[in-house]
Amino acid sequence: MGSLNIENVKKAFGPVEVLKGIDLEVNDGEFVVFVGPSGCGKSTLLRVIAGLEDSTSGRVVIDGQDVSVTPPAKRGIAMVFQTYALYPHLTVKNNMGLGLKQAGTPAAEIDRRIGIASSMLSLEPYLERRPAELSGGQRQRVAIGRAVVREPKLFLFDEPLSNLDAALRVNTRLEIAQLHRRLKATMIYVTHDQVEAMTLADKIVVLNAGRIEQIGGPMELYNSPANEFVAGFIGSPK
Ligand code: ADP
Ligand code: MG
Repeated sequence: MGSLNIENVKKAFGPVEVLKGIDLEVNDGEFVVFVGPSGCGKSTLLRVIAGLEDSTSGRVVIDGQDVSVTPPAKRGIAMVFQTYALYPHLTVKNNMGLGLKQAGTPAAEIDRRIGIASSMLSLEPYLERRPAELSGGQRQRVAIGRAVVREPKLFLFDEPLSNLDAALRVNTRLEIAQLHRRLKATMIYVTHDQVEAMTLADKIVVLNAGRIEQIGGPMELYNSPANEFVAGFIGSPK
C-alpha cells in the first residue's frame, strides 16, 4: 500500500507563502513526477509529505490516515536526495543498513534486505567500500539502496540525477524505472528535466509559484497543455 492524498496544503516561511493550497491524489503504485521552475516549492512539498517540514495548514493522508502529527520515521517514507547524504566513514553495507539497525531490525533481516537491494542495484561488488571509493552514480545507487532496504510505502526522490553526468543520468534513470516495476512501490520524483519527466511518469504535476498548474499523463500534457506555462515547460526541451 502507498496511496497519498494531499488536501489544501499551504506552507509559509514567515510572511512568504511558498505552497499556496496544493491538492493532489497519488494512487498506490503510481510514479508521479513534480516539475516546475527553481523555487516553485517542489522540495518544500516533498519535505512536507516526508514530515521534515510542517505544513501551515491542510492535510497529508497516507493510506487513509492523516499523518500530520506522525513523525518522519513512522510515515513509511524513504527520501533520496540530490547530494546522496551518505556517511563517509561507513561502508556501503553499513550506510544501507544503519537506519534499520537504529530501528532495532535483527542483523539477519538487515543482511537479507541488503542482499536483495544490492543485487537489484548491482552494488554487490562494492559493499565493503566507503563512499569516497565510489563514482557519483554508484553513490546515488547506494542512497537508493538505503531507501529500498527500509521497504517504504512511498519513495520520494528530490532531483536524484542532477549531480550526475549525462551518461550516468540515463543509466540511473533506467534503474529507477526498473526498480519501480519490480517493487510496484509508489514513487514521487522531482526533476526539472523534461526527458526524465516524460519517460518516468505515470502522472506529471506541473508546479508554478506554489500552485499546481496542471496534472496529467505525459502525452496529455504534451498534447493538451492547459496554458502557456505548461506548454513552455513540457513542450520545449532544454
Ligand atoms: P524548489 O525545490 O522548487 O526549487 P523550494 O521548495 O526549495 O523550491 O523553495 C521554494 C521557496 O521557499 C524558495 O523561495 C525558497 O527560498 C523558500 N524556502 C525553502 N525553504 C525555506 C526555509 N527553510 N526558510 C525560508 N524559505 C525557504
Ligand atoms: Mg528543490
